[in-house]
Amino acid sequence: MKNLLNAFPLASFIVGTDGYVVDANDKALSLFGQDIVGRTFLEVVRNPNVSDAIEDALEQKSHRHCEWSTTKATTDIVYHVTASWIVAEDILVTFQDVTDIEHSLQARQEFVTNVSHELKTPLTAMLGFLETLQLMDTSEPEAQRRFIVMMAQETQRMNRLVSDLLSLNSVQANERIRPSDPIDLGTLIENVVANLQGLATQSQTQLIFTPPQKAPVVFGDGDQLRQVAINLIENAIKYARSSDIVISLSDEAYQPMLRREGIVLTVEDHGSGIAAIHIPRLTERFYRVDDHRGRDIGGTGLGLSIVKHIVSRHRGRIRIKSTLGRGSQFSIYLPKN
Ligand code: ADP
Repeated sequence: MKNLLNAFPLASFIVGTDGYVVDANDKALSLFGQDIVGRTFLEVVRNPNVSDAIEDALEQKSHRHCEWSTTKATTDIVYHVTASWIVAEDILVTFQDVTDIEHSLQARQEFVTNVSHELKTPLTAMLGFLETLQLMDTSEPEAQRRFIVMMAQETQRMNRLVSDLLSLNSVQANERIRPSDPIDLGTLIENVVANLQGLATQSQTQLIFTPPQKAPVVFGDGDQLRQVAINLIENAIKYARSSDIVISLSDEAYQPMLRREGIVLTVEDHGSGIAAIHIPRLTERFYRVDDHRGRDIGGTGLGLSIVKHIVSRHRGRIRIKSTLGRGSQFSIYLPKN
């Protein structure tokens, strides 16, 4: 029986009709202690759900399932417990650790809640505008036009959200496949800066980038690295408060952050800055420091999350330094090979 029990991939023990544990596999011994054989199941797992399941299975000569949540060294762990009547009137009790599955289910639920919430806000606004337009007197073309402009803004917001969600999805889908095209970062950043200079001017800022003498080349995915630069520079424009934005590329050098040769892309602004408590959470999906302001200026809360996944695909690192009221510096460390 012991061999059979040890062949099980789950922590398992057998309870006799008298309620005493008669055998256990190594996984169960390391979970509950080396001395559980010969003790009652009530002493081994002190949890009413598990006790009820074993008692029911013993009485009914049947199978019972339950969930058991416990804490091990400050970590919450969830087990699916099965008590099954087997031959010789014994009960086989198995413990399957489902903590990771529970976490991913929870993350999925949170994600759906967040996406629904983000879409619901512009949709509710659109419905309100449509109702007002329907009731509006046709002799008020100027007022009608104002409503249409506001509806266009809400539609753009939904469009941005869906585009960012699609980007995030495609980045995550191939995160494990390392990209390998040689990319000239100097030219790539120069093009992005040229494309965003107009947006910067509209926000009374300017982008300052001096291309390095020697083209720094990394192996990567050009579209994705362009996306990283766009997201960081667009953020700097949004939060720069009319100060200049300095973009720089380091030479190839040993980078202690990477423990090997690499290149650093830095985007620095002297705008609103970010309080220290927010910095570790900035790359979480939908995290915004100021929810309302962030939304009003067109943020989806996904930009830095996309950056994080792209950088991780390139085996790089992100470092964010910021002082509230003084400005921020976002640095991306990319390994050479
Ligand atoms: P968003 O689409 O809202 O900009 P991001 O994921 O790009 O989402 O950024 C998350 C949050 O980080 C932003 O809402 C903003 O609060 C903060 N943030 C990002 N970049 C900067 C910056 N350069 N200066 C100040 N705050 C910033």
